[in-house]
Amino acid sequence: MSLVSIRKTEDYRQEAVDRAVALHFEALGVEGDLRPGMKVTIKPNLLTARRPEQAVTTHPAVLLSVVKWLKERGVESITVADSPGGPYVAAALRTVYAVSGLKALEGPFKLNYDTGWREVRCAEGFENRSFNIINPLVDADYIINIAKLKTHSMTTLSAGIKNLFGAIPGLQKPEFHYKYPELRDFSNMLLEIAATVDADITVIDAVEAMEGNGPNGGDMRYMGLTFASRNLYAQDYVAARLMGLEPEGIPMLSLALEKGLFSPEDVELIGDKVQAPETPFKLPDSATLDFMTFVPKIFRGCAHKVMTKILRPLPKLEAEKCIGCGKCAESCPPHIIKMSGGRAVIPTRGCISCFCCQEMCPVHAIKVKRRLRRAK
Ligand code: SF4
Ligand code: SF4
Repeated sequence: MSLVSIRKTEDYRQEAVDRAVALHFEALGVEGDLRPGMKVTIKPNLLTARRPEQAVTTHPAVLLSVVKWLKERGVESITVADSPGGPYVAAALRTVYAVSGLKALEGPFKLNYDTGWREVRCAEGFENRSFNIINPLVDADYIINIAKLKTHSMTTLSAGIKNLFGAIPGLQKPEFHYKYPELRDFSNMLLEIAATVDADITVIDAVEAMEGNGPNGGDMRYMGLTFASRNLYAQDYVAARLMGLEPEGIPMLSLALEKGLFSPEDVELIGDKVQAPETPFKLPDSATLDFMTFVPKIFRGCAHKVMTKILRPLPKLEAEKCIGCGKCAESCPPHIIKMSGGRAVIPTRGCISCFCCQEMCPVHAIKVKRRLRRAK
């Protein structure tokens, strides 16, 4: 049975979030996991330097509630670590910690500045033999993954599974986009990373979630919820349903189902009763449905080639907004973006439609163009 705990969490007032986290952890029996001298690492979503109210990063109040709960139970060693987009260097971490509101809270926990990583072997039968994982996650005795609930331009959903892509150091992340340009292959890799990191508990901050062109350029959507589970696949499935999305159409979830990582029949919801909204979350302009799921297996080879050509969305620069920072070029896996005259130049040829450029653009100057629009 996969328990998924859901709690109405009205806003980010500390006492409201403290109460929700305490109820989640009590329901999941987290206290029984704790051991004297244990090293705990918390992995928030720190995609890039954004303020808490922009709904891009894990809200500091949620992180602080988890820290307080651990401290009250005698846990001394708590490190907060993530590898945001862009280069994994101490200066970039300092900026992200300051802007996201975490720096101001440091004391009961330690913010990570160690930018090293180690190779961690994957389980037998995985496509990848190993992953390079940032040190604080390798060194941890216990990992708490605190995701932010968002739509995502490439993977449609960013929650517990996708948050663990941040275990991969800095600019090694775009290399995986290049290695796996097809969404199903990329999604399979995300599942392999999640299994290799093997977080003990995943919490989702969905008090203020994001819809539209997430994970960075979407709009805040109030949801008033937090989630927690030991099974992050089941939890992402439940969260997607409560966003009004069809989880089976999201490749990382359809693959998790195929691999038997959870089964909807074995999911038990605990906590507050919540219904899916009447108006589903707005999808990103670039969202690609996993249409292959609905095509009979014998036709999938040719259907895939044709449909990918027709449906593939591409990035489009709104040149007047571009400030020439070069963050898109830095994160472009095939290195096709060039800077010219203080602006980005984004060619179509060679583009793998990963939308890392859109994800990293601080001024939302990159939109989506496509020949066919998906039905709303
Ligand atoms: S141009 Fe943008 S979408 Fe295309 S490959 Fe580069 S980062 Fe990905
Ligand atoms: S498109 Fe965005 S990320 Fe790229 S250079 Fe312009 S402002 Fe920077």
